[in-house]
Amino acid sequence: MDIHQRDDLAFPQSLPEFQRLFPDDAACSAYLERARWPDGFACPHCGAVAEPFRIATRPGILECRSCRRQTGFLVGTVMERSHTPLSVWFWAAYLVTSQTPGMSAVQFQRQLGLTRYETAFGILHKLRAGMVRPDQDRIGGRPGEHVEIDETWVGGRTRGEGRGIHHKTLVAAAVEVRRRKPGTAQDKRKDGRYAGRVRLAIADDRSANSLCGFVESSVMPGSLIVSDDWSGYANLRKRGYDHHAIAECGDPEVAEEFMPIIHLVFSNLKTWLNGIHHGVSANHLQAYLNEFTFRFNRRFYTFNAFRSLLGIAGNVEAPTFRELYSGEWQHPTYSGCLR
Ligand SMILES: [Zn+2]
Repeated sequence: MDIHQRDDLAFPQSLPEFQRLFPDDAACSAYLERARWPDGFACPHCGAVAEPFRIATRPGILECRSCRRQTGFLVGTVMERSHTPLSVWFWAAYLVTSQTPGMSAVQFQRQLGLTRYETAFGILHKLRAGMVRPDQDRIGGRPGEHVEIDETWVGGRTRGEGRGIHHKTLVAAAVEVRRRKPGTAQDKRKDGRYAGRVRLAIADDRSANSLCGFVESSVMPGSLIVSDDWSGYANLRKRGYDHHAIAECGDPEVAEEFMPIIHLVFSNLKTWLNGIHHGVSANHLQAYLNEFTFRFNRRFYTFNAFRSLLGIAGNVEAPTFRELYSGEWQHPTYSGCLR
């Protein structure tokens, strides 16, 4: 059963409610157990259905009363083999999903009183790895909607090197453009248009191969795509898309008129990267793009995001701090990633 349909798995709407629902590790453990066995524990070894033994010092382990064998229900989740208490993981998932801008590892370390920065950093990165799974399908493909496509440079430092794109990374984006029903409250400037789902990926360059490749892996064929008239997008019709290229997109008024939503996404993304994380190095950028995408696509459904992180975050291979910094670890990428 889809974890999002489970009304018995409550979601806290406030900090006091969080404290009431998840006061300690035992409460978190019970929540995960209920997520895994909605009808009560069934032993995977002997099939017995009965209240298992719980071991106070070993959260995440259940022992069958019939065959006495143990079952670990953290296996395959981001919490597996972690020395961090379950309650800290729950706080992390809650803070990451409920606070609009998310949080940096430093803020997180302070908020939870963690001794080591590496622990805070590791938890947040493992949760980010869990943000990759639910969104691998392509966006677009809905009648009456179109998809805006564009690319932008992010990150990097240019200090002392003059103006330009030194050390910056090219990011390609696609966003569904939806329209509010007539009669509902509308932002007149955007003519009732608002953003649906988004896809973001690092692009090697602005060539047709890179950009059209991004579109093919991110957007359903047949969708109407609106982009600027850069040559990198010229082949989209041949590749099975309905394509509308806007000339003079460098003019802010033209851009605002024809591609308002994607520019809003870029502006949010840059504010978030610079404001919360004070800039991000290129080798970690894809992880942050994943987090931004996850949060953006669930901005109206934070409780689903929380459940996703704890539930669907299972079976995600998580990096160690050493792997992250030795460069051995490859952040999981969206299907739209070009590397
Ligand atoms: Zn058993």
